[in-house]
Amino acid sequence: MAVQRVARVAVPAMTADRAESAAAGGPCRSGGLPAAGAVYTRLLAAYGPQHWWPAESRFEIIVGAVLIQRTSWRNAEQALARLRAAGALALAPMAALDREVLAGLVRPAGFYRQKAARLGAISGWLVMQGGCDALDELDDAALRAAWLAQPGIGPETADAIALYAYGRPVFVVDAYARRLLARLGLVRGDEPYETLRVALEATLDAGSDCYNEFHALIVAHGKARCGVRPRCDGCVLAGDCAHARAPR
Ligand code: SF4
Repeated sequence: MAVQRVARVAVPAMTADRAESAAAGGPCRSGGLPAAGAVYTRLLAAYGPQHWWPAESRFEIIVGAVLIQRTSWRNAEQALARLRAAGALALAPMAALDREVLAGLVRPAGFYRQKAARLGAISGWLVMQGGCDALDELDDAALRAAWLAQPGIGPETADAIALYAYGRPVFVVDAYARRLLARLGLVRGDEPYETLRVALEATLDAGSDCYNEFHALIVAHGKARCGVRPRCDGCVLAGDCAHARAPR
């Protein structure tokens, strides 16, 4: 999930105070996974605040979280731009949109019929709930369960929505996070999603501010260095990275 624009929604932004606090080991002090807090601090120093999620509304975050499934942010962003240009990047218009038309608009994101079906179903469900903001009434567990009950919404997407659209304290364990933590030697890398999420949330003495920034920083690092083929020379984490130390 790459970032192109600055979030302008009700998700907490990284303020100067937060950045200073985090750089001092602030909201992401670590507990159970001793190195996780240090990883956060070094990534923040290297890349700076990421200002996630890149969206102009809560609904746009939700739509983006569906569109990014199994594709790049560049492709998802093209689909978002087409929806915006068509006036369909809002709850009521999308809920009322013909499914074939919706599929055509989200085509750049790939799996477009499947994603259109998911977005149509989710939009209809949200309208019945009374809008995106109606879910603010739910506690963290109920909100997560509500999203997991929607078609095509797995744990990673549900957690991205809970964190970035609703500001809930959930750590999003995506492929970038799993790969980085495994290469650092902090986890095996093949653990079930829930095992890693629970371990990380127990580790990081934090809430949504930390999880928001940490996840965004992990993605930034994954795109800059720790991709499928890591570029370890000069990496800020190389000194403590099991992968970098391993004999070749
Ligand atoms: S040293 Fe290499 S493998 Fe380790 S975190 Fe950096 S880029 Fe990834």
